[in-house]
Amino acid sequence: MPILDYLASQALAFILLAGLLGLIIGSFLNVVIHRLPRMLERDWRQQCHEFLSPDQPAPEQPTYNLILPHSHCPHCQTEIKPWQNLPVISYLQLKGRCGHCRERISPRYPLIELLTAGLSMLVAWHFGFGWAAGAMLLLTWGLISLSMIDADTQLLPDILVLPLLWLGLIVNSTGLFTDLNSALWGAVAGYLSLWSVYWLFKLITGKEGMGYGDFKLLAMLGAWGGWQILPLTILLSSLVGAILGIIILKSRGKDNATPIPFGPYLAIAGWIALIWGETITGTYLKFAGF
Ligand SMILES: [Zn+2]
Repeated sequence: MPILDYLASQALAFILLAGLLGLIIGSFLNVVIHRLPRMLERDWRQQCHEFLSPDQPAPEQPTYNLILPHSHCPHCQTEIKPWQNLPVISYLQLKGRCGHCRERISPRYPLIELLTAGLSMLVAWHFGFGWAAGAMLLLTWGLISLSMIDADTQLLPDILVLPLLWLGLIVNSTGLFTDLNSALWGAVAGYLSLWSVYWLFKLITGKEGMGYGDFKLLAMLGAWGGWQILPLTILLSSLVGAILGIIILKSRGKDNATPIPFGPYLAIAGWIALIWGETITGTYLKFAGF
């Protein structure tokens, strides 16, 4: 395929293509981040209803999935036209306001599109054209969605975490990022390490410090990078958590007792450890004199 040969030989073309793809995917991730928790909630309601009153038919609910209904302005409910749905460009063109009622649109949408594009370009630059870049792009997009959903709702949906866990094991069956043995034990140790911390914390303080979603997320990261990335991931997540935690607490006041989810810190740390883990550990060991 000439186009694949071209991308393989032209690093810059591949990076730019990844950036463009990132913008489009980022636009879709906005939908996933917003709708997936609501879809799950509807599903849970439905299941509760079937369990509690199996004889009564469940109330009809309008269609709501990742595609339908079409996006609309949260303020005036006007449907957003396809040409108003271009990533970043539409936001700038409409000056951050709804095209119909001129109500402000959250800058979060274009920011997530830009973040997705930026990280996709970084992955393309770091790995170059090939399977590793492709797999890492999928993981990156998954981690962006998971981090934002966790920050919004304190949920890390299994429907995203578990397929990515299997995918990590599958890509490493050919040794893409690590050998299969390391990946398997990465998944096991990732889960068990946070699981033990959770129970130890609960036995000592009687409180729950994190959720089962966090164990599964670390298991998933271990499946991608092998058990070797786990110590650095945990260390980095505490560091990221401490820095971002202070910023968040300062910005919203000490009285706010809303729990700060741990998932985004794990996701950021795991992503860094997967890409630069060996460089970071190597530099550290050199400076430590080993
Ligand atoms: Zn509007």
